[in-house]
Amino acid sequence: MSEKISFKIFESESRFLDSRKNFEETVERFQVRMDPLTGRTGHFSHFGAIKSQKLPLEDYLKPEIKGFCPFCKENRDKRTPKFLKNIIPEGRIEKGETVLIPNLFPYDIYSAVAIMTDGHLCPIDGFTEKILLDALQVGIDFLKRVKSINHELPYHLMSWNYMPPSGGGLVHPHQQYFATEFPGNQFVDEYKASKEFYEKEDKSFWNELMETEKQIGERFIAETKRSFWITPFVSLGILGEIMCIFPDVFSIEDFDDECMNDLVWGLIRIFRYYKQAGIYSFNAAMFFGDKRQRFFSCHFRIVPSTFLNMRDCAPDLHFF
Ligand SMILES: [Zn+2]
Repeated sequence: MSEKISFKIFESESRFLDSRKNFEETVERFQVRMDPLTGRTGHFSHFGAIKSQKLPLEDYLKPEIKGFCPFCKENRDKRTPKFLKNIIPEGRIEKGETVLIPNLFPYDIYSAVAIMTDGHLCPIDGFTEKILLDALQVGIDFLKRVKSINHELPYHLMSWNYMPPSGGGLVHPHQQYFATEFPGNQFVDEYKASKEFYEKEDKSFWNELMETEKQIGERFIAETKRSFWITPFVSLGILGEIMCIFPDVFSIEDFDDECMNDLVWGLIRIFRYYKQAGIYSFNAAMFFGDKRQRFFSCHFRIVPSTFLNMRDCAPDLHFF
């Protein structure tokens, strides 16, 4: 076990008179876990009580539910924007089924959407290696191009909300790519803590985490030449989380074809598992630090999302 990283668990229990058992006194156990990097806490509770809900995929294609979709092939040309010539001379970038366009509702100065498929609906097992790789290549190329135009924006992000429970506004599969000075709270907390760890321990937190997780073996999933896959000790989602670390990728410039192939290799396997587990929706993101540092490795997170039930469509986001 690492002396530099600790996995803290506070175990406790709650007692009450149980209406399900004739009001006998009952004990329910729970855990509070502390993220080994940021110290953020996660409550580990209601074991097995929440099941991923089946989404009515066929209904999403009915005209009255589908409504107008600007990402559908027949609408794209007229109803989606184009980039300025100094950014993308062709206006949009296309590869296979992927079309990269500017976001009509940008998150930052350079904010792109990669429409991933021709078809409006792509079930989780419909994402082929080619679809995933084309979208990723186009998105990463865009970020690299942006980086060469504007050095002022140090951080780069890829994000993907898939299907309505994730907060995805359109069912049509799409990813977001943007460059920013303000990469979000999760990113900033991790970045600061990674820097502090590096300064104190003279070693990257991410390398230490990989060695430790491999030794423990409980959450380690797989390793390829460039990527390392685990389930994080504190999950961001109710139905768990999978994380992929690229230890030798620190900024967008370092993310090459080999990394993309490794990411797609993992995604195909995750989607196979999601299909089997009845998971219909997820949130995913990939975080890139700035060029000069060596303490914040690029990493990708994917978290299943679900409505808690299909009657009220209550989301699985909660107050913690
Ligand atoms: Zn569509």
